Formats: sequence, C-alpha cells, structure tokens
Amino acid sequence: MSEIFPDIRHSVIIGGGASGLMCAGSYLAPKLLLEHNARTGAKLAVSGGGKCNFTHLHLRAQDYLCSEKHFCHNALAAFKPSDFVRLLQQAAIPFKETEPGRLFARSAEEVSEFLHRRARQNNTEISTSVQVLSLKKEKDLFCIQTSRGNIFSRYVVLATGGLSYPQLGASGFAYQTARALGLKVTELRPALTGFCVPEPLRGICRALAGNSLKAEISVGKRTEKGALLFTHEGISGPAALQASLYWREGEKIRINLLPGNDAETLLRTHKNEPLPFSRILAQLLSCKISKMWLGGLDVRAADASNASLRAAAQQLNRFEFVPTQTGGFSRAEATAGGVDVSQIRPATMECKTIPGLFIIGEALDVTGRVGGYNLHWAWASAAAAAEELGKR
Ligand SMILES: Cc1cc2nc3c(=O)[nH]c(=O)nc-3n(C[C@H](O)[C@H](O)[C@H](O)COP(=O)(O)OP(=O)(O)OC[C@H]3O[C@@H](n4cnc5c(N)ncnc54)[C@H](O)[C@@H]3O)c2cc1C
Repeated sequence: MSEIFPDIRHSVIIGGGASGLMCAGSYLAPKLLLEHNARTGAKLAVSGGGKCNFTHLHLRAQDYLCSEKHFCHNALAAFKPSDFVRLLQQAAIPFKETEPGRLFARSAEEVSEFLHRRARQNNTEISTSVQVLSLKKEKDLFCIQTSRGNIFSRYVVLATGGLSYPQLGASGFAYQTARALGLKVTELRPALTGFCVPEPLRGICRALAGNSLKAEISVGKRTEKGALLFTHEGISGPAALQASLYWREGEKIRINLLPGNDAETLLRTHKNEPLPFSRILAQLLSCKISKMWLGGLDVRAADASNASLRAAAQQLNRFEFVPTQTGGFSRAEATAGGVDVSQIRPATMECKTIPGLFIIGEALDVTGRVGGYNLHWAWASAAAAAEELGKR
C-alpha cells in the first residue's frame, strides 16, 4: 500500500459532509480532510429537497433531542443562525425564508460548493475517495488508518455523521470508532421519517396515497401539528416526520384529523340531517379522506346511534394505533442518538477522556426537528471545534 500522507499533520478532519466542511473552513491551521465518497457534501447537496434548509431563525436548544438537556446551549449561543446567514451573504449566495423562520438556499449544491471552496481557501487539503478504516491514539498522536495508507496527526475531528441515507455515504464509522476508543454510544434510531402502519389501516393509507391534510400526531405527551401525507405504506409528511423523533418501537401514536374541532360536538349539531358524516364534515375535511378513514362508521347522521356517533368522533379526533416500524435509516433524514455527550466538552466538542479528539455534527447524540435544525447543529458544533483548534 503506498503511503500518500507522509508527514505529521496538525489536524485531520474525517468526513467531508456539512460539519466537516464547515469546520475545515473555520480555522486557519493547515489540515487534511478525508472523505470516502468521490465528492464532498453529497448529502448536503440534496438536502431540503435540493434547496437546503440551512437554518431556522427561531431555533432554541429545546428544539433538539439530546440526553443532556443543556449540552447544545454553548455551541448554539456562540454560532447563531445570523452567523451562517452572514457567511452566505458575504459569498453572495441567495436564500429566502419560505416558511416562518425556515431559511432555504436557491440551490443546495451552491451551499455545498461554497463550503468546499471556503475550506480550500482556508488551508485545507481535501482528499476524496479515501476511506478511513480506523482511528487510534498512540502517545500524543492519532494514527488514522485509511484505504491509502496511515496518517499521523496531533488533532482529529470526527465528522462522519450518522446512519441515515447510506446511499449518500453514511456509515457507522463514528459509532464504531467511538466504541473502540472506549466511548459510550446511546441507542441509535432512524428519525425524521414516516411510519409504516398495520392492516387494515395500511389499506386505507394505500387508497389515499398522495393525499395530504393538516393534522395532529401525538406520541406520548408530544403533539405535532402540520401536514400529514398518506403513503402506500402508511403516513409521512412534516407532522409524521417530527413525531418520529420521539417515537420508540411498540409505542402508540394518536392521530387527530380535525385539529381544533371537537368532532362529537360537530356531528351532534347535525344529528337530524339525512347526510352521511363525511358530507357533514366536507368543509373541514375532504370527503375522499373522511369516507375512507371512517369506513363503516360513515353513516347518515339521522340514523346514527349515540354509540356510533361517538365511535366516528373518536376515529376522527383520537385514532390510536401502533406503527409497525418507521421508514428506516435508508429514508430517515437523521439518526437519533449517537456518541454520548456526557463525554464531550460542550464549548469545544473535544472529548473529555481523549484530548485532541473532537466529535461534531450528527455523530453526537443531538438530533433536531425538521426545519433547518440539524444543519444548524452541524454548523454550530463545527464552529465550536474550529474555534478551539484555531488556538492550538
Ligand atoms: C435527504 C436528506 C435531506 C436533509 N435535509 C435537511 C435540511 O434541509 N435541513 C437540515 O437541517 N437537515 C437536513 N438533513 C439532515 C442533515 O443533512 C444532516 O444532519 C447533516 O448533513 C449532518 O452533517 P454531518 O457532517 O454530521 O454528516 P454528513 O453530512 O452525513 O457528513 C458525513 C460525511 O462523512 C463521510 N464518511 C462517512 N464514513 C466515512 C469514512 N469511514 N471515511 C471517510 N468518510 C466517511 C460521508 O460520506 C459524509 O460525506 C437532511 C438529511 C437527508 C438525508
């Protein structure tokens, strides 16, 4: 195997995705960035449906799921949405606020190319198609074993992300390495993905596939409002994606197709009408959806017994079921769980027990909601590590 990396490096960044590129461009010391894909920023380039929802103007630490409640505070306070906005403005990269607080670029590819360029301008040698195989610390140096030889470095930034979208290069490298170095990794779950549902609900969802409506989905005490999209396997759309962040296997979820309306009161008001419930609800819910959803419960109001009216109302406001599974890592926008943050310094992302090792981005046990939160975590955690590396 030819040794293509002969010297001892100041720092090596493993992973050329959102956090790795951001970190590389944010301090001046010479550094090497290693990426196993043929290009950097592959996931970033397709993020936000190709428009990259790169931050959320109103983000708060509470918008992140993390086993240590206050872990994200420092990094998020030090690198705000306005800081990333400024970077894009300086580079004349257009963006806009499409929903309140959610900022999207004109093109995700533009953001990815900008971060690549910025990294190179700030002293980064970028090596793509290099797979990192293992990481060890020997005395004061890290030994990085790669598909193209070993590299020695004083500092290492682990930025290889989570398990979601293996088709874009995601690997379990961060978790495997953390465990090999004696670090704890919390339970890993696919998050920000739809749900597969059991029969007979599956048949209903299949028949309604492609239709969407405003709904509420509750998991435990959390209720998510937003669009619910029916799919061939179950439900998806923003409300389902947000709910998946909190869902654990075997747990019930509850759907309300008439948020803000008490279906029982509403149906009772029309108790003597000769119309089926689906027609009575037509102003609030498409007839196609209510007919399918209610099935045999869609009877004429005038003929409905009290019990059947209540059952129809329950089906509309509080339909409970246990999903069979989520869409899995191949369709999840994020990995919930990760390297246990109790082992990481919150201001710098340096590992407490392995000085010189920094872990950033999705590899950590920090998962944001849909809406630009996860990319913002990639930027903020990268900026925290870069700030510290710039002083060493
Ligand atoms: C389809 C999709 C759309 C998304 N859209 C948005 C959005 O609009 N807004 C938002 O906030 N979040 C979005 N996300 C989430 C966001 O993309 C991630 O949170 C973010 O990319 C995480 O950054 P990261 O640097 O930690 O990991 P990544 O960006 O995944 O980067 C990790 C890099 O490490 C490389 N790598 C892995 N293993 C190795 C190895 N052994 N050797 C060398 N290289 C390796 C990978 O190829 C990859 O390039 C989306 C996710 C997906 C899947």
